[in-house]
Amino acid sequence: MSELSELASEISVCTKCILSKSRTKAVPGEGPENAQIMFVGEGPGFHEDKQGRPFVGAAGQFLEELLASIGMKREQVFIANVVKCRPPGNRDPLPNEIEACRPYLDRQIELINPKVIVTLGRYSMARWFPNAKISAIHGQPRKVEGRLIVPMFHPAAALHQPSLRRDVEADFRKLPEILAQFEQLEDSESRPPDAKQLSLF
Ligand code: URA
Ligand code: SF4
Repeated sequence: MSELSELASEISVCTKCILSKSRTKAVPGEGPENAQIMFVGEGPGFHEDKQGRPFVGAAGQFLEELLASIGMKREQVFIANVVKCRPPGNRDPLPNEIEACRPYLDRQIELINPKVIVTLGRYSMARWFPNAKISAIHGQPRKVEGRLIVPMFHPAAALHQPSLRRDVEADFRKLPEILAQFEQLEDSESRPPDAKQLSLF
């Protein structure tokens, strides 16, 4: 068994926070172990809790549409959440729950080592940019510890708010270009220091 699936088994029986008491199934996350792009949502909702899989409800369907708009399928990306167990009634996750669950997300990132992490919603964005406002920085890639973090609105919020929906759709359309530019930048960084830098960063 791979380290990533061992981690998933560990998560499925975790009791490190109170969310373990009300969950049906923990939702460790899913996707290829060598995914180049990782999406990090907030936490499981009703359907995710029943199935033990991330983004399988309405927000998940929208996420799949967004991926399809750039020619990608969900099977190509890794999808995880900040907290792995559903907060009762879909309430916001509490700081102590996020803290208790954080080592799992950290470990997933370490093992998958994606080039790009797309954060979906405020809680996921706060993992990298605790004081930022999502309305100010959505769609803007920033390099952190050798990867690009791209904050986006949560698809569940965007689904029902036309202006956010347009924003998230536009942010998604930039992803292929962001990934391509990042790859070029990585190449140029392994060449001598006078190598040309790209405008995006
Ligand atoms: N919303 C999330 O943040 N994560 C899921 O897995 C599903 C809905
Ligand atoms: Fe454990 Fe995270 Fe579930 Fe809390 S939310 S019980 S820390 S897996």
